[in-house]
This record gives sequence, C-alpha cells and structure tokens, in this order.
Amino acid sequence: MRKSLILACVLGFTALTAPIAVALYWASREALNAEMAYAGSVADELLRRSVAARQQIYLALDALGRAPRGDCSEPTLSLMRELNMGLSYLKDVGAVRDGRLICSSMGRYRQGIPLGPSDARVSSGVQIWRDVVLPYAPGLHLNLFEHKGWVVALHPDFVFDLALRDQDTTVAVLIGAPPMVLQSRGPIDAARLTREPSSASGPLELPDHLLVFRHSPENNLTTMVAISRVGLHARMGRQALILLPLAAIAGLLLVAAVALATRQRLSLPGEIRLGLKRREFHLHYQPVVDLQTGRCVGAEALLRWRRPAGAPMSPDLFIPAAERSGLIRAITAYVIDIAARDLPVLLAQQQGFHLGINFSAQDLETEGSITHLLQRLREIQAPPGSLVVEITERNVTDARAAGKQIARLHDRGVQVAVDDFGTGHSSLSVLAGLELDILKIDKSFVDAIDAQAAASLVLPHIIDMAKTLRLFMIAEGVETETQADYLRERGVQFAQGWLYGKPMPLDDLLDLLRTQGRAWASRGHGLPV
Ligand code: C2E
Ligand code: CA
Ligand code: CA
Repeated sequence: MRKSLILACVLGFTALTAPIAVALYWASREALNAEMAYAGSVADELLRRSVAARQQIYLALDALGRAPRGDCSEPTLSLMRELNMGLSYLKDVGAVRDGRLICSSMGRYRQGIPLGPSDARVSSGVQIWRDVVLPYAPGLHLNLFEHKGWVVALHPDFVFDLALRDQDTTVAVLIGAPPMVLQSRGPIDAARLTREPSSASGPLELPDHLLVFRHSPENNLTTMVAISRVGLHARMGRQALILLPLAAIAGLLLVAAVALATRQRLSLPGEIRLGLKRREFHLHYQPVVDLQTGRCVGAEALLRWRRPAGAPMSPDLFIPAAERSGLIRAITAYVIDIAARDLPVLLAQQQGFHLGINFSAQDLETEGSITHLLQRLREIQAPPGSLVVEITERNVTDARAAGKQIARLHDRGVQVAVDDFGTGHSSLSVLAGLELDILKIDKSFVDAIDAQAAASLVLPHIIDMAKTLRLFMIAEGVETETQADYLRERGVQFAQGWLYGKPMPLDDLLDLLRTQGRAWASRGHGLPV
C-alpha cells in the first residue's frame, strides 16, 4: 500500500513536471531554431545585396576601363553620370591618378582629392578604401573600389539598410580568403567573431553569440550574422512564458489521469473503509431448502455493496481485497451486526430457521470475530443451531487454532460448515480432525451432474465421505431439477441455488417464508442442533 502510494506520488510528480520540462526544452529549441532561421534569412539577404553591389562595381569599372586611363573628358564624365544614375548601389564613379581623385560624375577636381593608402587589395587587383569622407559629400562614409585608375564609391547603407529586428544583431560583409571584414554593423567587433576557426562553414555556437554565415565563392564574398545570446535567452523566456500555462494544464491533466488510474488501483481498500463508514454494504439472503420437502429452512447471508458511484461490485472482488488489506474483520463485524439484527425477525417468522454467514481466514486466526459474534448472539438470545459459520478449506491454515475456535462456537450452539468443499487444497485429514457440522458441496460438482463431466465421478465420493464423517450436506448452485433429484436420491439433505431462489433482500425472504405457511414451520425442519 505504502509502496503504491510512493509510486503514485512519483508518477504524479513526473506527470506534472515532465510537460513543463518538455515545454521549456521545446521553447529553447524553438527559439534557437527561430533565431537560426532569422539569422539565415538576414545573411541571405545581405549576401544577395553584396553580390548585386559587387556586380555593379565591376560593371562600372569595366565600362570605364574602355575609356583612356585617367580620362576626365566630357564624354567620360557623361558616362560616369550615366553609370551612377543607372546602378543603384553606386554613389559616385570617378578617375584616380597618383593616388588622387581627379574627377567624378560630380565634376573635375583641379587639385585632385588625395585618397591616402588603401586599406586592402583583393585578388582581382581591386584596391579598397574603407570609410572615406569626400570633401564634396561631407557626412557620407563611403567605400571606394579602384581598378586601373577608375574608382567606384559605394554607400554601405545601400547594402546594410536591413530592417534588423534587434539592436543586438551584428551583420558583416567579408571579402576574400581568408575573409576580411569589408563592412559591419552592430554592437560587436565582427573581426573578432570571424577569427573563430569554423567561421567558413555552417552555424557556429559561441559562448556569447550564435553565428550564421553565407558564402558566394564565385564572388569571393561572405556574409555573417551574429546574434547575442542575451537577447536569445530573453526571447526563449518569452516563448516559455507562452508555453508554460499550456504545459501546466497538460501536466494537471496528466496528474488527473494518474490520480484516476491510481485511484482505481489503490483505493479499493480505501473505498471499502469509506463504504463501511457510510453503511453502503447490506446483506442479501439466499434460501437453503430441505431437498425432501422443498421447504426453505435457512439462508446464507451474502454481502452486497451499493456504491453511490460506480457499478455494483461482486464480493468475489471486494472480499479478497478486504482480506489482503486487513479490512475483512471490520466487514465480518458489520455482517455479524446485520445478521444479528435480522435473525430474530426470521426466527419469528419461522422457528428452527438457520442463517449462514461467511468467515474468512483472519476471522478464525484471531479471537475478535468469534467473540463479537458470540456477544451478539447472547444479546439476541439466539437459539442453538440458528447460526452457521461457513469457513473454507483454505481458511484452515492452523488446524489446532481452528479447532479451538470451532470449539468456542460449538459451546454456544453455533454450527460450522465447510464451504466450497472440493475446491481447496485441504487434506482430508485436516478436515477430519476438525469437528465440523455441515459440508457445502461446491457448485462445480453440482454443475457436473447434468454435464456428465468427470467431476461427477468425484461427487459420490464426497457424499460418502460426508456420510462417514456424519456431516450434513448442503449442495450449492443447484439450478435444475435433474441436479436436485440426483442429490436427493443420494441422501444430500439440503440445497441452495437459483432453482430455489437467488440471493434476495430480507423482506423478499420473509415473503417467501410466509407463503410456505405456518403449518410447515410448526413441524420444525431446521438443521439439528
Ligand atoms: P460463496 O460463499 O460460495 O457464495 C455462493 C455464491 O454463489 C454467491 O455469490 C451466490 O450468489 C452464488 N450462487 C448461489 N446460487 C447460485 C446458482 O444457482 N448459480 C450461480 N451461478 N451462482 C449461485 P456471491 O454472492 O457473488 O458471493 C461470492 C463469494 O463472496 C461467496 O462465495 C463468498 O466466498 C464471498 N462472500 C460473500 N459474502 C461474504 C461475506 O459476508 N463475508 C465473507 N467473508 N465472504 C463473503
Ligand atoms: Ca458461503
Ligand atoms: Ca460456497
């Protein structure tokens, strides 16, 4: 019982926490996947723009390359203007001589604008200046790309004006191999991130950042998007916040399912205890008839459970459960009390009537049940022979102890019947050593009478044995006249079964006795004392 309770608690706890744990895990995975997808899409878009910008740069440089080197004539300036207007990423197009910008689509610069040393030169021979501010365009930080005296100015915003979701996202365009940061936006130093060893391949999880790269080898370009983990955790938290209530509901549903399952498994003894307290149990009585006269001379008390919720439960289920959980003595006491209340009513209706009640092993092993029974019988001044205690063979585990208890019962005129005879594994010697009064022939032997089954070969032996031991016999489960005839012919005195009546409420039994008439009652066909 305690083990099952612990198991139920563990199950309940798991049922409650597992969905929450799963939700948290799921939230973090979902958030991570969403972040990766988001970063991937930003990196894709950035690469698309970078490739487009590069193509425009090369297109412009190629177009200008057809004019004489360093030419600032009107047709060349006009070409520059055309290119500048037609290529969306370009801010300006011009000519360079001796490290100075001498003209551009904006006009000629007599002195020339010194560009200073370049920041990088890529394999195609293009020189790059980053973050250049030209005097005729103050406030614009441009990137310049120069090849063979022609120069193209690009405003990084054209590439970078991505509507980034978070302040904590860093984006970068890398050029060449090993990649060099051409331009970056965001709170962290992209150069530091791109030093990571696997920056050239798929997503990279750094302690404080998630990195996603996209490559265009033919354009010698790489883009990188870095998402800070701080922001990621905040978003995971928000995701979890949405999922947690759902997880809690799922957890509670699971707990309810576990509780229901364990209630069904665990609580039968609990339900029995409660049923006893609420007096949900009552007795039905099954008539026992004299086979010679067909008259009802007694009854067996059989316990019924009227549960307020749920289907009626057979004693075949709740009696073993009560036996296992130690509740059977409380049940027996309950049965004794009802039987002691009803017996005087039955005796008033029919003298010599006898009532059988069922005892379990524990009722015989200890004194309590028998003491209780004898006390009640004294109170109602039950005549000798009016009560029969039915015990089964398997209940007699300690023949000596049982013998003592049986002697106590006999002292008070209570008879003892051995129930379900032939089904237990009792040795005849044990039974022979006990002072029994009645042998109840089990229904299985009675059933065999009609079926001509092998068991029917055993029945004559049981009957002979009962006769030898001078026991009265009650045949159980008699359902047909054929069975009744057979039993009568072989000297079985009493029978009970559906042929004579199913277990019934007290009032029905009293009605049955009444219809038998007072004449029969006065002749006294009860069991001998
Ligand atoms: P049992 O003592 O052998 O009781 C006889 C069972 O056979 C009863 O089932 C009864 O309804 C059924 N029966 C009687 N005549 C016929 C028939 O002609 N045909 C068929 N098919 N069945 C018949 P029930 O009431 O379900 O009781 C089952 C068992 O539960 C009893 O077997 C007895 O071992 C136990 N039991 C019932 N009430 C009590 C009780 O108050 N205390 C204890 N300790 N055990 C009880
Ligand atoms: Ca019985
Ligand atoms: Ca029986």
